[in-house]
Amino acid sequence: MPISAYLKVSIAVAVATILLKGVAWWVSGSVSLLSDALESLVNLAGAIFALLMVSVAAQPPDEDHPYGHHKAEYFSSGFEGVLIFAAAVAIIWEALHRLFDPQPVEQIGLGITLAVVSSAMNGALAWSMLRKAREARSMALEADARHLFTDVWTSVGVVVGLLAVKFTGLLWLDPVIALLVAGNILREGWSLARRSADGLMDRALEPEAREQIEQVLAGFAHQTIRFDHVVTRRAGQRRYVDLHMHMPPGWTLGRAAAVRTSVEQALMSAVPGLRATIQLLPMDVEAHFNDPRDPL
Ligand SMILES: [Zn+2]
Repeated sequence: MPISAYLKVSIAVAVATILLKGVAWWVSGSVSLLSDALESLVNLAGAIFALLMVSVAAQPPDEDHPYGHHKAEYFSSGFEGVLIFAAAVAIIWEALHRLFDPQPVEQIGLGITLAVVSSAMNGALAWSMLRKAREARSMALEADARHLFTDVWTSVGVVVGLLAVKFTGLLWLDPVIALLVAGNILREGWSLARRSADGLMDRALEPEAREQIEQVLAGFAHQTIRFDHVVTRRAGQRRYVDLHMHMPPGWTLGRAAAVRTSVEQALMSAVPGLRATIQLLPMDVEAHFNDPRDPL
């Protein structure tokens, strides 16, 4: 199933979840069930935005964006991070009100049943989306899946809290559980926002990928060839490495190009999705534009 199909299913599931949790909140009057429903509303907006961004990211390079549109996915995870913060603030506000003015919770059994049904649905979807996201290295899909998981944890917390209210009659437990859930949501929002910032800041490839690049280069480097200025970055699903290949000044361009092709191919098969840019230079010459602070 393509990524966009997963996102469409997640939109449908989000609509169903909002209806179920909305009814659960309506019949029970529980603030923790309200927080649960509100989080799902954020989830719906996030899934719609992710779907838009994934279709932008999939567009081929054009004249104005010759490197492609891969980074569009980072907008999606950043946007979801902001939405999660907003939902958490709304929950905290409502829960604090309820803490100082406790209200009875009604029809707890029905509320709990609806929350459990929608969580089971979300949990199954989140699990399959996370697997697909890892396979396709999609930030947008991963952000959406992680968000769905927080949704499931929200509901688990809410159900436990409502069971406690039912058996102990302690009304303040309802808003306290809602506050705990909000804390967890905030944590998730922070980590999403940080990851999208990493992407926009051209973060280096993960250590395992860099290790593999080093190994490939070590396999080619010998007395006549030297590699330096190796820098890596990621952009969405795309990975880049730039480097210098220094060789004896007497080599013909044809010979140099043949070696470069082998290096390129070895790099690309070692690290999936990698694009290598290799500058050819004589052994004793450095490129002029390289800043002295750049890595050697
Ligand atoms: Zn160099």
